[in-house]
Order: sequence, then C-alpha cells, then structure tokens
Amino acid sequence: MAVKTMMLTAEEVEKAAALLRNGEVVAFPTETVYGLGANALDREAVEKIFQAKGRPQDNPLIVHCFTRAQLTDLVTEIPPEAKILMDKFWPGPLTLVLPKSAAIPQVVSAGLDTVGIRIPDHPLALELIQKTGFPLAAPSANLSGRPSPTRAEHVWADLQGKIPAILDGGETGWGLESTVLDCTVKPFRLLRPGGVTLEELQALTSIQVDTTIYGASLDATPASPGMKYQHYAPQAEVFLVLGQNTPAKIGELSEDYLEVGKRVGVMTWDERCQLYPRLTCLPMGPSGDLSILATKLYHLLRESDRLGLDVLFIEGVSEEHLGLAIMNRLRKAANEQVIHT
Ligand code: AMP
Ligand code: MG
Repeated sequence: MAVKTMMLTAEEVEKAAALLRNGEVVAFPTETVYGLGANALDREAVEKIFQAKGRPQDNPLIVHCFTRAQLTDLVTEIPPEAKILMDKFWPGPLTLVLPKSAAIPQVVSAGLDTVGIRIPDHPLALELIQKTGFPLAAPSANLSGRPSPTRAEHVWADLQGKIPAILDGGETGWGLESTVLDCTVKPFRLLRPGGVTLEELQALTSIQVDTTIYGASLDATPASPGMKYQHYAPQAEVFLVLGQNTPAKIGELSEDYLEVGKRVGVMTWDERCQLYPRLTCLPMGPSGDLSILATKLYHLLRESDRLGLDVLFIEGVSEEHLGLAIMNRLRKAANEQVIHT
C-alpha cells in the first residue's frame, strides 16, 4: 500500500524522531550517504527497511549510534585495537564489525553473530539518534541495486510512496559509504573500502589490516554478505576503461553503438570531455580530485539514467586513497566489465 512521504526540514527533526519511536522507518542524511533508519532493537521496525528497499534478507545492516556508551548493550567484546580505531575515526565513516549481543535482533545482522557499528559524523544524524534514544539500523536509502543516495531527491526518486518521511539535510559530505572493517578476526579484515582510507588505517602501526578479501565481490561465500550483490548499477550497460589510450579505445568501441542509434555517454574528468565530441559527457570534476569525484559519483550514475543513456564508458582512476573505494564502486557499476587499453 502506498504511503504519503513527507519531506522534512532540519527544523523538523523531532517529527522524524517521533516516527522512529513509533516503529516507523525514516530516511536521514549522514556524512557518507542517506540512510534508511529504524530502531535497531525492534525487529518489526527493521523488517520495514528490508521491505521498502527490496533488500535481500541475508544482507546485514549497519547500526548507527550517538555515543560510545550505547555500545555496551550492543556488543559482547571490543578488542583494544578497535578502541584505538574508535578514538581516531569516530564519529566518522568507519564501520567496525564486532561480536553482537542478544539485544540486536537476528534480522539486523542477517543471522550472523556479529554486528557492524559506527557513529556518523553528521549533526542531523546525531541529533536524530539522540532524540530517539535508541541506535538506528540503517542501510543506504536507495532501492536495492540502485546507486546510493547523496541528495534527498535521490531518496525521493527511489522510495517515495514506500516510506513515511525523508529528513532533508542537503547534499551528503563524502558521497561514498563507510569503510567496513571486521574486528572479530586477527588481523582485522577490510570488507569494504570507503571514506576512511586504507592508507589512514595502515598509518596506525598498532593495527594490522588484511586486504585480501574485499575484492572478491562475486565470491559464493563472501566474508561480508553485501559483497555478492551487484550494487550501484545504472540502467545503461557500463564499461570501465583502464589504461593509457582510453579516448582511442572508447571512440572505437562507441562507433558500433552510435551507428545503431544508441545513446552513448562517457564519465571522465572535466578537462577530458572535449576528447569525446560525439558522446554525452558526465564530468567527474577537476582532473585527479578524488574527493570531488566521490561526492559526485552516485549523482552521475543517476544522471546516466535521467539522460536515458544505453551505454556508459567510465574512465578508471588510480586506486590510491579514496580511489580504492571509488574503483570498488565503479567495478560494481560495470558488473566487472573492465577493458584494459
Ligand atoms: P549498506 O548499509 O547498504 O551500506 O550495506 C552495509 C554493508 O556492510 C554490506 O556490505 C554488509 O554486508 C556489510 N555488513 C554489515 N554488517 C556486517 C557484518 N556483521 N558482517 C560483515 N559485513 C557486514
Ligand atoms: Mg547500500
């Protein structure tokens, strides 16, 4: 049944908190992407998240807290190294997977005995969690399989008629989801690269990080359930193009599509759009600026749909710093269709 979706302003945060206290779901901004929140301790409320998003039941949710004091009831153990990470990166885009307590319903953790937790670095998100008085389970507020929302209007496009309210906090900060780190194994395992970079984690000499796992996105028994799903997909067929002479390769490959009247786009740095006069350009920002690209990335993938592109070529970026998380998302958008020139 369709519900009427309210767009709430920052001044109306109490209305959002009241809905959540009433067992409803509400979309809210964080510093990474918009989340679709519900009381993490209420099974029925959390089930509404899965329904609204069409999210597979075996993909666990991240629990968002307001203070570290809330963790006492949610996890059974916090390794000393995890505390070092909390000191350094919380509030912020780092999710720590820890052994869960019985307070967390199975639906939140998708049956696992662990739970992913973080404290978001966004004033509205923190105010909302504080006002509700309980932790919020919240995945990204998109329809399952669509790019994560970085603006309230993206949430509206996906979930209007399915959820009672969206708290509008403008554009999100990072534009990419949190880094997910499994702290239940030694060394800790990187499950998803994100806003906190691998270089930042590795700079802490007391922390060892195993990075061998996150790339195995199509593994049949993934370490993090979310890995096996195709995410971030625009409707166009997407090719990720890597290497030196991308304009020649993309020019050649696009010929066949243009000839039969397909709409072909290219995602590249601002200055390089001119290299593709026959294609629709989705500009990624000034050359090499990974943080600007991160803020635009999901919007550009959604623009591809709005423009009705049939085929989209994306020029890859270097996998350093935020580039690791960006390329992880681009590989998924391209469903691993990668062309080397
Ligand atoms: P989303 O909320 O849509 O950004 O997705 C959350 C991501 O965190 C998914 O990739 C999940 O698989 C991962 N995740 C959440 N909780 C756990 C957990 N307990 N163990 C492993 N991965 C998790
Ligand atoms: Mg998501």
